[in-house]
Amino acid sequence: MERGKARKRIDELRKEISRHDHLYYVLDRPEIEDDHYDRLIRELKGLEEEYPEFQSADSPTRRVGGEPLSSFEKITHSEPMLSLDNALDISELGAFFRRVRQSLGSGDIEYICEHKIDGLAVSLFYRDGRFVRGATRGDGRTGEDVTSNLRTIRSLPLALQQDMEGEIEVRGEVFMKKEDFARINAIREDRGEPLFANPRNASAGSLRQLDPSISASRPLTLFIYHLLRPEQIGLSLQSDILQWLKASGLPVQQDNRLCSSEEEVYAYIEEWREKRHDLPYVTDGVVIKVNDRALWKDLGVTAKSPKWAIAFKYPPEEKLTQVLDIEVSVGRTGTLTPTAILEPVHLSGTVVRRASLHNQDEVARKDVRIGDTVRVRKAGEIIPEVISVDRDRRKGDEVPFRMPEKCPECGSSVVRIPGEVAIRCPNISCPAQLREGILHFASRQGMDIRGLGEKIIEMLIREGLVKNVADLYFLNTSELESLERMGERSASNLLESLERSKTRPLANLINALGIRYVGSKASEILADEFLDLASLASAGEERLAGLEGIGPRIAASIVAYFRDPQNLSMLSQLKEAGVSMEEEKDKGTEELPPLFEGMRVVFTGELSSMPRGEAEGIVKKLGGKTSSSVSSNTSLLVVGSEPGSKYSKAQELHVRIADEEEFLEMIKPLLDQEI
Ligand code: NAD
Repeated sequence: MERGKARKRIDELRKEISRHDHLYYVLDRPEIEDDHYDRLIRELKGLEEEYPEFQSADSPTRRVGGEPLSSFEKITHSEPMLSLDNALDISELGAFFRRVRQSLGSGDIEYICEHKIDGLAVSLFYRDGRFVRGATRGDGRTGEDVTSNLRTIRSLPLALQQDMEGEIEVRGEVFMKKEDFARINAIREDRGEPLFANPRNASAGSLRQLDPSISASRPLTLFIYHLLRPEQIGLSLQSDILQWLKASGLPVQQDNRLCSSEEEVYAYIEEWREKRHDLPYVTDGVVIKVNDRALWKDLGVTAKSPKWAIAFKYPPEEKLTQVLDIEVSVGRTGTLTPTAILEPVHLSGTVVRRASLHNQDEVARKDVRIGDTVRVRKAGEIIPEVISVDRDRRKGDEVPFRMPEKCPECGSSVVRIPGEVAIRCPNISCPAQLREGILHFASRQGMDIRGLGEKIIEMLIREGLVKNVADLYFLNTSELESLERMGERSASNLLESLERSKTRPLANLINALGIRYVGSKASEILADEFLDLASLASAGEERLAGLEGIGPRIAASIVAYFRDPQNLSMLSQLKEAGVSMEEEKDKGTEELPPLFEGMRVVFTGELSSMPRGEAEGIVKKLGGKTSSSVSSNTSLLVVGSEPGSKYSKAQELHVRIADEEEFLEMIKPLLDQEI
């Protein structure tokens, strides 16, 4: 490339990459796939090498990660948290081995292979064996203090299992398992919220929440792979250090392997190429580190990454297959979703038969037609996705797709709400919406009605026995037995589970109703706040929107739900059927005095004696309730160190305030009993 052009391209690339860095690291909303990003970086690196005069210290090729969010306290890392150099194929890995051999002047080097977990790097401090502080990587030098959020991760031990004096610092990866990621995204799709592109962004988005209760509601987990200053414990081999970390009770990934030769490293990579798809979490590669940490110093680091380690990245798997059909399904909220039915194809460990095409705009953008040959892959290694159409293979008889004008389930004319991409069936008695709504109502986080599966629901709707969820409670044995393949036994089991479901906690009932944007977390907040459904139904929008964790969109949706006459008549039917609509009082454990009976307790700031979750559990054990926000219903605010805005709100509302010591005094009967 000619010099002037190269300069221009370098500028362009830097701008473009910085934009993607911001989207990825700060907003957790990437617009492009990682391999696309990696290609941009490669191109920039190549040009910077060819034209060293254009190199610059603030080029994205020299910087790690993104800037820390301003709203978190900043923490300067004791040693920079670096990125890793990537090897995108075996020859690049060979070049890494050569560099190490040359620098050390020896070919006899032990390596350790670890899975590269796709999450976000964190640094944790333990003082005298207790977890005291944790931070994200941020830009590598300065990260965000996310201690309270990290405390909500169950696999993070708050105390180490070995007696330790002084401070140790460990580093590892916070991530989300595949299953949990899929579940979270399904909930988000249902609520019309933007989806996370991959588990890594879901983890980052969850850990970097200003409200720890949101992090707590997200299923995050953790692996530790690094100990700083291992001379403190007299160890210098990474393999021994991993053992030590494990013995301390820290979660360490099990499949790491000590390799005494480069061949063994290649074998490890091959062994896991396919096997990794069976792991419960996403690994996109293998991290290969020189095992003897005494050699790390000799090898050194660059501005961005250490020279004693490399991340081998498996290429994302892409395959060609054919679109056999495009099906349209109707969801619980009436949204029509087109799905490509594919000629089955083996992809990243499973057989893929379908891929969501999301909406009409997406189909049009990719111009997917029935009969087309398409390139598919799994986004974030999990979600099957049509990347593009192979137009060269078009024969001319492919059928363009058009969203139906009538709902495929009930025939109503569909509508497109201005400003939304979704096309909906407006008929709230549409059998598809009814079916999905009942499934949601009966789900575990809803009324938990065992034995009420999709097939039975379809039959109940087809036979006209159920027109809304409340009708379920008026079914009788003979009606149930009249259904195909429904015997006496299953009918009576179903009636029993329906009966049992009538006393589910208020939060489950609220969630079960399927009010738009109200998921299980919001339902808990609402149940805690209102204590019965009637009070929630009559609450004004302003009061709702003022609750922590609710906000204006959810508030408006709740108010609209309780204004709808059809919903109101369904709710009175539920009441008539005997479904409990108020919060059951926790009775408290019999032997324990119900010290907090009738009280609503809120916590703010950090408690030094226990994590907040534990303190809340104690309040509940002693007959009380807890809530995440202060209101006039609050009986007590317990204040830890660095309290938030709840403190001033409690003062304003003249709510009783106790510090940690007073709280510990109050719960003494329980502590005494446990000792
Ligand atoms: P990286 O993900 O390539 O590797 C470094 C990280 O690996 C470490 O910080 C650590 O978090 C992690 N890791 C996992 N297991 C490990 C182990 N056993 N030992 C040590 N570290 C381990 O580098 P990065 O700087 O975190 O991110 C760069 C990557 O992010 C790029 O490859 C790119 O694909 C992606 N990215 C994508 C976009 C986009 O817009 N799509 C934007 C920016 C970055």
